[in-house]
Amino acid sequence: MDFKLSKEQELIQKAAREFAANVILPLGKKIEQDDKIPQEIWDGLAELGFLGLPFEEEFGGGEAGYENYVLAQEQISRVSSGVGTAFSVHIMGSDVLALFGSREQQKHYLPKTCKGELKPSFAFTEPGTGSDPKQLVTTAARDGEYVVINGVKRFITNAGYEGPMVVFCKDADTGGFSAYIVDKFCPGYSLSKPWEKIGSHGSPIFDVYFKDVRVPASNLLGEPGKGFDILLLGIAFGKIGTSAIALGGILAAYEEAVKYAKEKLHRGKPIAKFQAIQLKIGHLAAKYYSTRWMCYRLGTLANDILGKSIQNPEQFQAEAALVKSYASDTAVEAAKLSMDVHASYGLTKDYPIERIYRDAIIAPQIEGVSDMQRIIWASSVLS
Ligand SMILES: Cc1cc2nc3c(=O)[nH]c(=O)nc-3n(C[C@H](O)[C@H](O)[C@H](O)COP(=O)(O)OP(=O)(O)OC[C@H]3O[C@@H](n4cnc5c(N)ncnc54)[C@H](O)[C@@H]3O)c2cc1C
Repeated sequence: MDFKLSKEQELIQKAAREFAANVILPLGKKIEQDDKIPQEIWDGLAELGFLGLPFEEEFGGGEAGYENYVLAQEQISRVSSGVGTAFSVHIMGSDVLALFGSREQQKHYLPKTCKGELKPSFAFTEPGTGSDPKQLVTTAARDGEYVVINGVKRFITNAGYEGPMVVFCKDADTGGFSAYIVDKFCPGYSLSKPWEKIGSHGSPIFDVYFKDVRVPASNLLGEPGKGFDILLLGIAFGKIGTSAIALGGILAAYEEAVKYAKEKLHRGKPIAKFQAIQLKIGHLAAKYYSTRWMCYRLGTLANDILGKSIQNPEQFQAEAALVKSYASDTAVEAAKLSMDVHASYGLTKDYPIERIYRDAIIAPQIEGVSDMQRIIWASSVLS
């Protein structure tokens, strides 16, 4: 057991921290106002190799492992959960192509997603279902060499960018679930206005309408009728990103609390001298360090799956659920503690904790709400 980062891991962490501080942070207000990620951020992420970090070199990826992705994601989300979320879904959409795509599908999409020219999406949520994807009603009907997709997907990240969208459908013939790759903005694909949400600005979510969208039957991802397995493992991989976004939020809450405690004066002395403030700093540190090692470990567990034949994904899925629920709920607690250190000043846009607090609330509600994650874990040990 070695809790040290390797030289390579330190370099990736440092590069991500510097990029976040020098490029993302100065654009933070613009991202908040426009609810859009400026192109220079995407270009920078691509240049650093982050958009293909875990994927095969053959496709332009870095083959650097998911723990390095977690390190990069943590530092980026420390300054912008919006950039973190778009980055996370980019990797998640690429994950399912890397895990389940045919060699042809991988060759077609991954070189472009690794460069950031295409940005994948992953679409399962619908107006009628979030936590229970078996209730989804979007249909895929076979028509000769094509499949015709009809339905509505809700709250879809990166839906406004060109790229492949993995769409989970009910097969009209068999009633089974299958996943299809749809090129966004093909005929029949349209979007709602972005939903106005509390945080993670820069990463808007849309309803996506599929009206007689025709895709070649060869756009099937994986095997017919196995869409549910793809969904479960794909979401589990997505939870690596969501957990790391939460971790970045905890780090930010902790660092901002320390900074403010040293700056704010009472009777000429910093509030850091109050034991009540020191207790909050101690709690924040414990929250950061406990979450950090859970998230890093989850990254290394994912390395055991990508590129290998997937034998027993259930354990990884259960662990991803556990880490995601812990990290995201802990991010909310950390943001509250840090807000308490800042008191009323923290409610103003003059201090980063105002954004950190709004962003923290998102992670427990997405990619499976926290209670459902605990139920997944419990089922794994109680069955
Ligand atoms: C910023 C953001 C980005 C998103 N990006 C995407 C995306 O890219 N792709 C995508 O497909 N979706 C995306 N989503 C949707 C998101 O993943 C779902 O909204 C989420 O899974 C929760 O579903 P729901 O809101 O329908 O909650 P519901 O399923 O309606 O849950 C409501 C409540 O009921 C409880 N509950 C539900 N079922 C049970 C049960 N069986 N037992 C006990 N309790 C239960 C839940 O715990 C929760 O407390 C995104 C959402 C947001 C906010």
